[in-house]
Amino acid sequence: NRRITLTARPQGLPRTSDFQLETQAAPEPAEGEVLLRTRFLSLDPYMRGMMDEAGPGYAPGVRLGQTMVGGTISEVVESRNPRFKVGDTVLSNVGWQDYAVSDGAGLTPLGDLPQPSLALGGLGMPGFTAYVGLLDIGEPKAGETVVVAAATGAVGSVVGQLAKLKGARVVGIAGGVDKCRHAVEVLGFDECIDHREPDLKQRLAVACPDGIDVYFENVGGDVLDAVLPLLNLHSRVPVCGFIAHYNEKGGAHGTDKRTQLLATILARRVRMQGFIILDHYTDRFAAFRRDMSQWIAQGRIRLQEDIVDGLEQAPAALIGLLQGRNFGKVVVRVTDE
Ligand code: NDP
Repeated sequence: NRRITLTARPQGLPRTSDFQLETQAAPEPAEGEVLLRTRFLSLDPYMRGMMDEAGPGYAPGVRLGQTMVGGTISEVVESRNPRFKVGDTVLSNVGWQDYAVSDGAGLTPLGDLPQPSLALGGLGMPGFTAYVGLLDIGEPKAGETVVVAAATGAVGSVVGQLAKLKGARVVGIAGGVDKCRHAVEVLGFDECIDHREPDLKQRLAVACPDGIDVYFENVGGDVLDAVLPLLNLHSRVPVCGFIAHYNEKGGAHGTDKRTQLLATILARRVRMQGFIILDHYTDRFAAFRRDMSQWIAQGRIRLQEDIVDGLEQAPAALIGLLQGRNFGKVVVRVTDE
């Protein structure tokens, strides 16, 4: 049984010397267990975070000496569990090794899926990520502009195609001419921009003449810089990943402020939404006035005022407010006549 363990924590880009191939006897299944033989192992960007001691921000890292984690498609080659028979193909999570035993928990039978490896891609975790992130959080509408980077990757390729199904205009961003051509000619994106060429900002602006309504965040970095000025009013940004930052010192736990922001939004599932109160008067003001008047009358909301007498005191009072010298809502009593 071969397995690959983590032997060193990478600084920046991982090196092959951070991993070690070990050979040991295949494990024996006990009563209630099955022996699995790995057919396919999924490799995914989150694994970079798993190589850091603190993990990617939502799960602990792999311990040194431990088998690298990963989604797998396995075949049951020995069964002492009545739920599985020899020859069954299952979705599993046994990591980077040839054989593993399992008590059956977390195994999903795949039946006769014609192309089982798809259960690690478009029909599995990455496809599902695209589906939920785009449809439930991005909510693209016909005619809107959707931008996605890592456009030919496991997640991005599905994001763009789903957005096309919803009638959006889709602009992909990918690394290299071949990937860009594939995005347009095979995946059906309207345009695809090579982020390795210069002038990304200008080229993205030209490709998005009506701005961007949905930016599906996969990468961060220079792509995010190019996207920000183009975001439309009420645009949506599902924060799925930020791979351009994964090899930075400290990764999700490093000192770069932008990485910290993206990592926190992602790992804490933060919904961060800008708003301007002027937009809400028509819909919400009457309800607010009714509720607030009642709460004040009941003593459930207390209001502190900081009254300043005389219009001439206004400049000093404003400066004081900016320095925290006010205590409560500053109101200038211009006249009490
Ligand atoms: P991909 O198959 O897209 O592979 C990664 C791709 O990222 C590379 O091929 C490359 O594409 C692109 N990339 C790498 N570095 C950079 C960079 N510096 N700037 C721009 N692009 C870069 O991976 P996945 O589809 O599996 O994952 C895509 C994203 O989705 C990742 O951020 C991942 O962490 C995230 N993810 C999040 C999940 C969640 O639950 N939130 C679940 C699954 C994935 P190119 O050459 O085209 O630039």
